[in-house]
Amino acid sequence: MSEHLKHNNYERPELELPLKDSKLLLHSCCAPCAGEIMEAVAASKIKTTVYFYNPNIHPKEEYEIRKDENKRFCDKLGFDFIDADYDKDKWFERVKGLEDEPERGKRCTECFDMRFERSALYAQENNYRVYATTLGISRWKNMDQINDSGHRSAERYEDVMYWDFNWRKKGGSSRMIEISKKEEFYQQEYCGCVYSLRDTNKWRKENNRDRIIRGIKFYS
Ligand code: SF4
Repeated sequence: MSEHLKHNNYERPELELPLKDSKLLLHSCCAPCAGEIMEAVAASKIKTTVYFYNPNIHPKEEYEIRKDENKRFCDKLGFDFIDADYDKDKWFERVKGLEDEPERGKRCTECFDMRFERSALYAQENNYRVYATTLGISRWKNMDQINDSGHRSAERYEDVMYWDFNWRKKGGSSRMIEISKKEEFYQQEYCGCVYSLRDTNKWRKENNRDRIIRGIKFYS
């Protein structure tokens, strides 16, 4: 196993896709969440393409930083990277009326559905029989909400399945942080959409914390 796939002498178990001999389409939200998962599938020699489809991220400048960080790590590991559309207008249409929902509420379900529906479609059109997402590794997220959405999107196609592997297990969450520090990834401070930016800053104000200054914080 090459050096960059080892962390504190942790021996990665061999992972197997639920459909043997398939290739994996990995929907990715950002480099910090993707890092551990990308290293795990690389160590198991699972042929993987990273699919970056996140029209929720606001503003465009933040979107570009997150995308570039993810692409940088793909280039390092030799993964193909699909830069999908930034069709933010469709995202705003999709979550209309849900602007004041809390995080992990109905707006997030729509947000996951939109991103996974497009991922499942791309998988179906490009002969990937399995797709997964990096979103569930974050402890901020509701894993059931993400997996429900993942399965629902895959069910639209007979020959595509969603892989609901629990990436948090066996130290996955801590390795995610270790890798982010080692690679000095950009450290986003809100989930992604304009409403999460608004709500995080509101919380910060109430707790005497400084407002978010986008684009400056990196893991180190
Ligand atoms: S809080 Fe995050 S998951 Fe929820 S709608 Fe906004 S970007 Fe999407």
